[in-house]
Amino acid sequence: MMQLPFSSPLDFEARVHCESPSEGHWFVFRGDQVLVEMGPLERPSDDPRVRARPAWARLPSQKNHNWLGESATRTLYLGCLGGTHCWAAELPRDAAAPAGMSWEGLRTLFSVLDDAHFAIAGRALQLIDWDRTHQFCGRCGAPTEPHAAERVRVCPACKLSAYPRVAPAVMALVKREKQILLARSPHFPQGMYSALAGFVEPGESLEQCLAREVAEEVGLRIGNARYFTSQPWPFPHSLMIAFVCEWASGEIKPQDGEIEEANWFEVLQLPKLPSKISIARRLIDAVVKELIGRDQT
Ligand SMILES: [Zn+2]
Repeated sequence: MMQLPFSSPLDFEARVHCESPSEGHWFVFRGDQVLVEMGPLERPSDDPRVRARPAWARLPSQKNHNWLGESATRTLYLGCLGGTHCWAAELPRDAAAPAGMSWEGLRTLFSVLDDAHFAIAGRALQLIDWDRTHQFCGRCGAPTEPHAAERVRVCPACKLSAYPRVAPAVMALVKREKQILLARSPHFPQGMYSALAGFVEPGESLEQCLAREVAEEVGLRIGNARYFTSQPWPFPHSLMIAFVCEWASGEIKPQDGEIEEANWFEVLQLPKLPSKISIARRLIDAVVKELIGRDQT
């Protein structure tokens, strides 16, 4: 099984309650930045959103499970990683980093922070965001309460339960003979192209979503959708589900406002691609390898 960035580590056990707090890893956020101890910024990155990365970074490890005291806006117990407790906490947006530590965006810490810690940081970011945005009942407006045994906030007045949300999104890499279809959204870093992607709508299967997204974004019909793999994506709470598909018919017509440009690319002449942090890059790399391999046999 392919283990992508942000996929839960195999030795992580999610829990909501800690029987006996002791030394643990701390995932502390200020907005979407996480608190780390880190070395000087020097490593280059293949992510156009990230200029330079630290030589090393590690999470704060604390014996005192109340070390942030009153300054934390919220604290959640996440579970155990290889027997070590993991805690998530949020500080106010203007909180200064403690001496020797700094605030960094998660993307900057990819492959700098330990992979397992990086994955749990993605989970923690989503849970902190969910906790922050579900303090009140969406039906009656009463303050909600955490459940003792499950990751859910419950309304004491009307009993509505609010579980952490995950929004499924499909990604499609469309092939036509030895070419692949890559497109640019106006929000992408300059020069970067990627596979097509979009959120699943209520009432839609993944296959229907794929066909609709490809038709809407570039005006093509596809067939032979083949599942590739999936990746939890914490910006803010997606599950990306990637497919390889075959072009069936149609000419490229980029959707106004959504797709700035879309083209068929030869696999040996590809434009700038997304960072290896993302499933998009893994999907493109796998298909390119398959198409080049087919040429050599
Ligand atoms: Zn309610």
